This record gives sequence, structure tokens and C-alpha cells, in this order.
Amino acid sequence: MTDRTLARVIESVPATDGAGVKLRRSLGRSPRLRVDPFLMLDAFSSDDPNDYSAGFPSHPHRGFETVTYMLDGHMRHEDHLGNRGDLGPGGVQWMTAGRGIIHSEMPLQLQGRMRGFQLWLNLPAREKMKPAHYRDIAADEIPLVALPSGGRVKVIAGEVAIGGRAVRGVVSGVSTDPLYLDVELPAGAQFAQAIAADHDGFVYPYEGSVRIAGQALASHNAGVLSRGDRVEVVADGGAARFLLLAARPIGEPIAQYGPFVMNTEDELARAVQDYREGKLTA
Ligand code: MN
Repeated sequence: MTDRTLARVIESVPATDGAGVKLRRSLGRSPRLRVDPFLMLDAFSSDDPNDYSAGFPSHPHRGFETVTYMLDGHMRHEDHLGNRGDLGPGGVQWMTAGRGIIHSEMPLQLQGRMRGFQLWLNLPAREKMKPAHYRDIAADEIPLVALPSGGRVKVIAGEVAIGGRAVRGVVSGVSTDPLYLDVELPAGAQFAQAIAADHDGFVYPYEGSVRIAGQALASHNAGVLSRGDRVEVVADGGAARFLLLAARPIGEPIAQYGPFVMNTEDELARAVQDYREGKLTA
């Protein structure tokens, strides 16, 4: 067994997206700051409606997947396929843009806390033009497992083994075989997780701070893991909550223009042209 260590840290910086939603962006704030196949991670958290009420009005995507995980608050999704879904506390929306989706993501609340994450997960070339697909997953559909040392883990994707019992996440069938866990630990508790040796991953603490192989990782920083086959995360000081993400790297060139993520500049130009001509989703 080889323990993964902290290979590098991608700090989050304040950013604005959509029609003026304030958030913190770690992965994806520059093309070099990614963990293949993860393109971007945005964390939003505010009690001030001015920070989120403008939402994300109608916009396109092509070539990848967006995964929205709400901790607090309500969002409504509507898309060109006629899908409409409410995303509530603890819920996940797993959307495959594929060849194209045009959707809006708007807050359903006028006050109170809005907190959660949006992750962009790349698709391999052979899947970039597949039909769009989307799935809303309510909080009570996501396995929640108590840890022997205290704390709990929500298994959004991938698999955990706790006390000899394997628990599979609610999302499966994604070709990069992602692991997406939300872990809560009391002070001093530890969580160990197997990660396939050829997968890349990172830890993102969003409450408190953690230690990975003795190295400290503060809140709202993405700690990119070295290669190995397991990781051990310890709540450092107080209680901690963090995301643990890993997946099989795609290893293909990435060409990005805003909400379009393809392999080549020609494919990007095509995406822009298709969108202008109303053919993005055709
Ligand atoms: Mn979107």
C-alpha cells in the first residue's frame, strides 16, 4: 500500500460567474490548474442574496459534464429538453452536456444561505458529442455512511468500504469512474479511502482544515494528491468537512472557450458557430 501525499495546492480565489454570482474558484482558474479529468471546481457560499440572486440565466455547454452539489439553499434548473428540476439541500444534479445543452440555473430563494459546489468533469473525445442527459438526485437517495471513528461520509459517486461493507455511490456508469465523497469528521478523527493507483484526485476542505500524510491543508484550497493507492485524511484541530474527488485521467488535449470544452480549436470554432446558428443541441 502506498499512501498518497500532498503533491501541490491549488488555492481558491474569489471569482464571479453567471449574472454576478460570487464564488471561490480553485481548479480551473487557469488552464494549468486542473486535475485531469476535473476541469473546474467552484464553491459558492453566502448569506447575502446580493451575492447569488442573479443566478445563471440561460447559457450553453458542450463537451463535458457539470455536477452541482447543494449544501444549503434551493436552485431551479431548466433546459432546452424541457427538463425542470429543483435542487435542494444535500441534493446533486449530474448533467452531461455532451453535444450541447442550453440551460439556466436560478436560485429559488430570496434570502438565507446558498452554499454548494459546481464541478466540471471532462468527457473523452469519443463521448463529447453524445446526447445531453441530466439527472436530479435528492439528498435522501445518496448513501450516507457512519464512520467507526465518528463522522460520516456521503457517497455521491464511487465506492467506500467501511467495516468490511462496500457502499456504492448513487451515480455510476461514468467512463472516468469518478469517486465523489463528502466527508465530515469530528476533531482528530481520520478517514482512509482506497483510490485506484492510476487515478488522479484532490481533497477540498470547506469547513476546518485537514492533514494528509502529515501535511496541513487549509479550508478552501484544493490539495492535489500524489499517486498511490490510498489516502488518509485527518481532521486537524477542530471538526472538518471536505470533498474527496478522484477519477481516471483522460490524457487528451483540452481546448476551452468559456462553456465549451473540446479537444481542438477547430472543434471549438464549430461549437461557437453551432451555438450562433441555433444548432448546438441539434
Ligand atoms: Mn451551466
